[in-house]
Amino acid sequence: MPDTAAPGREPAATGGLDDFIAGLPKAELHVHHVGSASPRIVAELAARHPDSKVPADPAALAAYFTFRDFAHFIELYLSVVDLIRDAEDVRLLTYEVARDLARQNVRYAELTVTPYSSTRRGIPAEAFMEAIEDARKAAEAELGVTLRWCFDIPGEAGLEAAEETTRLALDLRPEGLVSFGLGGPEIGVPRPQFKPYFDRARAAGLHSVPHAGETTGPQTIWDALTALGAERIGHGTSAAQDPALLAHLAEHRIPLEVCPTSNIATRAVASLEEHPIRRMVDAGVLVTVNSDDPPMFGTDLNTEYAVAARLLGLDPAGVAALARTAVEASFLDAAGKARLGAEIDAYTAARG
Ligand SMILES: [Zn+2]
Repeated sequence: MPDTAAPGREPAATGGLDDFIAGLPKAELHVHHVGSASPRIVAELAARHPDSKVPADPAALAAYFTFRDFAHFIELYLSVVDLIRDAEDVRLLTYEVARDLARQNVRYAELTVTPYSSTRRGIPAEAFMEAIEDARKAAEAELGVTLRWCFDIPGEAGLEAAEETTRLALDLRPEGLVSFGLGGPEIGVPRPQFKPYFDRARAAGLHSVPHAGETTGPQTIWDALTALGAERIGHGTSAAQDPALLAHLAEHRIPLEVCPTSNIATRAVASLEEHPIRRMVDAGVLVTVNSDDPPMFGTDLNTEYAVAARLLGLDPAGVAALARTAVEASFLDAAGKARLGAEIDAYTAARG
């Protein structure tokens, strides 16, 4: 396994705050498995499948990855899905995503995985689980990054996908699985229809983390809370339109997984200046900052922290507090939270 970087060796970025962010130990709570495939990873996958239409040469791939619009993102996403054809592809993708996270000093990530996309394409479910677990253990031992899984229902694939995702989560439950999600489009995909599946997943001890309020209004977030028992909300952008909802999220300490650049790329929000992150924070809501589908949106977690710091006017101590909120909002156990929290504090003190 070629290794070109290890945690802590991120080259210094320009500017004091960017440098602070790059070295800061972080937790990432909203990032998609396939959506994290960087040009480097896609080149490796494309080399395994020369018949694919995806270019394997790095220069052509850089152009292929240049974000144009949402339709281009979907095209890119689906062409990467097409490269995940066997369990070895799954293992390679997962381990290499962990390497990209480790380079940014991400110590802990809850990776949103959509097993239905792979099993539907003929990868045996048991082999899929073995591949992600093998990559998880190797990433922890070799890269120093802890991975946990959120299995999500691709909402556009309907109740059949919900049934299959629930079955995979509960019958083949991999050790790293901590939560159950719902992604894909919101328009025309009402959240309450997925209640029976979330009920089963929650009864089995999985946490509920559906996407809601990314492209539709606050009612979708209320539905995610009341019907799906959401403990964190994926995006939750439209919560800012509803003061009662903001108050509810703050009172019940239900964090939002905010992904600023994604929101602009998908046009959920018109511009960063109009992003409601400030209103969320001002309302006392626990806000975490995340990257969603980073290479496809031309970003990474460090960039998202820099964006949030600018929008919220944060200094290094404020950025460290943001990183601590993500640790608190994570599904790490108490010892893991204490360890990562102490690491953030030590780093901040040493840099202060
Ligand atoms: Zn997402």
